[in-house]
Amino acid sequence: MTEKFLIRTYGCQMNDHDSERIAGLLRAKGMEPTTEVDEANVIVFNTCTIRENADTKFYAHLGHVKQRREFGENVLVAVGGCMAQAQGGAILDKVGHVDLVFGTHNVSQLPHLIDRVRAEGRLAVVPDAPDPSGGDLSEALTAVRELPYAAWITLQTGCDNTCAYCIVPDVRGPEVSRPFADLVAEATELARRGVTEVTLLGQNVNSYGRDLTGRSPLFADLLRALGEVPGIRRIRFTSPHPKDLRPETIAAMAETEAVCNQLHLPLQSGSNRILTAMRRGYTAERYLERLAAARAAIPDLAVTTDLIVGFPGETDEDFAETLEVAAEAEWDSAFTFIFSPREGTRAAAMVDQFCDPDAVAERFEQLLAVVERSSLRRNEARVGRLEELLIVGPSKTKNEMTSGRTSQGKLVHIATPEVALLPGAYATATITHGARHHLLGTFEELIAPPRHRRTLSVVAR
Ligand code: SF4
Repeated sequence: MTEKFLIRTYGCQMNDHDSERIAGLLRAKGMEPTTEVDEANVIVFNTCTIRENADTKFYAHLGHVKQRREFGENVLVAVGGCMAQAQGGAILDKVGHVDLVFGTHNVSQLPHLIDRVRAEGRLAVVPDAPDPSGGDLSEALTAVRELPYAAWITLQTGCDNTCAYCIVPDVRGPEVSRPFADLVAEATELARRGVTEVTLLGQNVNSYGRDLTGRSPLFADLLRALGEVPGIRRIRFTSPHPKDLRPETIAAMAETEAVCNQLHLPLQSGSNRILTAMRRGYTAERYLERLAAARAAIPDLAVTTDLIVGFPGETDEDFAETLEVAAEAEWDSAFTFIFSPREGTRAAAMVDQFCDPDAVAERFEQLLAVVERSSLRRNEARVGRLEELLIVGPSKTKNEMTSGRTSQGKLVHIATPEVALLPGAYATATITHGARHHLLGTFEELIAPPRHRRTLSVVAR
């Protein structure tokens, strides 16, 4: 009987894409995916140490699997991802029903490691450095992509920065860029299969290629090269680091038609004192200069950011500076976080400077109000405009509407009374209403049908 696997993923897009790679590797091993815990022969937990609650959710899900083991069922439990890399074999000691712990650097070896567990018993293999044979082009092309019309492409793993609150450099290692030619080949093959939108993933995409060339980064060249791939209509990327956003990248964004008018530029704090403590490598003034340069070069650019409230040592004055920068930056949206210490980071050791939780909660609400006001203003300003949408499917929140995303990444719900718009199609819509987190519009015209091959769903509804 064909063995089945289930993958549970926590955390960021990098983990989502690693799970797509894992699914490809397990399929190549002859296994089939399932969404039912009770019928899986192999369950893979792809964990996170960064996102709030990811570890709590992981342990809760592990509990369900334990019951299967108690009933004597044959299921192999593997734990990978950032938490596995950080904790290694300690997970085997803590959780008796975990069979395999593998790190962020040996995803490619998972099928082989599963065979080893079956032959030798429980195992933790968490190397410090990437497997030189791992993550190659053929593996990227066997990844089981969630969507047939939009795909992630990992261009780099790891990070060379040392932000005080972040565990990524410890668990993902230093920056390792994939070869330029492999990335272009991957995008070309994806386009041949009907993918029209690619999102480039890296912890610091701006420094892509620095390790390959030993000199300047290649990110701007990469954007231009991918912009030449026939069939790729949209290119997005995440995340760039403000200190490495170079004029060449801004020029490549402005001059490459396929690059979307969207920039995620994480500020984190508006206080230079806190930015220094965070080891971010830029000042608020520098951030605003780069933001202004990007907006001047790229018309109709949507900018989003990340902000941390209550970093150790943050005072009311520091926070007031963050509010001032927020007012000036007028982001399209912001992901706001309350500081939470990650074990093993410099910030986690700054215990004597931790902020009063009540004061932080109050600051958080104030910041949310400011950034949400600016989201609303920027979305309302789009009313009356004609937008091109990539259709993503029926709206999840608005009955009988269809949803799509603009080049700026904005979610638009449109009524399409007589037209069935399939996911992956491109259409235009006139914006009729702007809310904080979405827009409403009326359908105008189908520009292009989906290019990918459609298959009949085998899932019972
Ligand atoms: S740039 Fe900073 S926050 Fe981002 S992954 Fe690297 S160390 Fe972490």
